Amino acid sequence: TAKRRGLSQHEDYRPGLESATAERYRLAMALRDALGRGEIHIALQPQVELASGRLTGAEALARWTLPSGETVPPGIFIPLAEATGLIVTLGEQVLRQACRAVVQLVGAGLTNLRVAVNVSTLQFAREGLLQDFLRILREEGVTPRQIEIEITESLAMQDIGTVQQRLQAFRDQGFEIAIDDFGTGFSSLSYLRRLPIDRLKIDQAFVAEIGTVDDENAIAEMVIRIAQRMGMTVIAEGVETPTQAAWLQARGCQDGQGYHFARPLALEDLLQWQATRNPG
Ligand code: C2E
Ligand code: MG
Ligand code: MG
Ligand code: MG
Repeated sequence: TAKRRGLSQHEDYRPGLESATAERYRLAMALRDALGRGEIHIALQPQVELASGRLTGAEALARWTLPSGETVPPGIFIPLAEATGLIVTLGEQVLRQACRAVVQLVGAGLTNLRVAVNVSTLQFAREGLLQDFLRILREEGVTPRQIEIEITESLAMQDIGTVQQRLQAFRDQGFEIAIDDFGTGFSSLSYLRRLPIDRLKIDQAFVAEIGTVDDENAIAEMVIRIAQRMGMTVIAEGVETPTQAAWLQARGCQDGQGYHFARPLALEDLLQWQATRNPG
């Protein structure tokens, strides 16, 4: 086969490449159609105060179920949406659904909750993002205080002037700002302290190490210390065990999110979860 490969390298290589590209293209078209039909929906993952078990909010996570019933993982369709520019529409639809969730939660007596949405770099780079967000909130009857924006560490590390100004504009309107997956990027702390950030989300990779690789625990602990030093709060994501929750709480981490508390849930399931559990 080595010889065959040498002779027909061209033919052997291109079909694979073409079908991968064609597959990607088909999926991009399917995503565009799904957005057109409003088929992208959200799951809500509860966020709880570690000390009390009190529900403080939820993160809205995009979900895509194909007509066949198959689901496409966000790890596939979010990068695709970013590469094709569809992330702008997707982000708006997610925000609108997050707003509707807020309204329904309030209607169910769950006031003072905040629903977080993920904002990708491409969305954030758009001039009119804040105005678009404010319009959607107005249309849905939600105030910025009820919405948290999650941006990634790499986004935060881009051109300081623009990022600082944009974030401040969101903050001035009352949005809460969180840095997602904190600890995975290469933040300069002196840079970070110049940004108007309310909280850090400890990446799940560092939470997963708690109780296993002893000296690596220091990363989660370090993030908590950084947050404290900078006057930010901190939430751990990917909390899967009571040991992790206790460890984090003992070190001053306020909030947690993860399978230990709940998986990302449909709104009705979140209401059910909240109604039947017994917060500590
Ligand atoms: P993320 O924002 O860091 O979201 C957390 C991810 O961790 C979610 O994966 C969630 O389901 C998963 N997770 C939560 N708790 C646990 C746990 O205890 N253990 C483990 N192993 N995993 C847990 P998901 O839903 O697959 O989302 C993946 C990523 O896709 C998100 O990471 C986010 O970066 C992106 N994403 C999802 N929805 C949106 C969206 O609407 N807009 C944008 N821009 N990105 C989104
Ligand atoms: Mg997130
Ligand atoms: Mg995250
Ligand atoms: Mg993550």
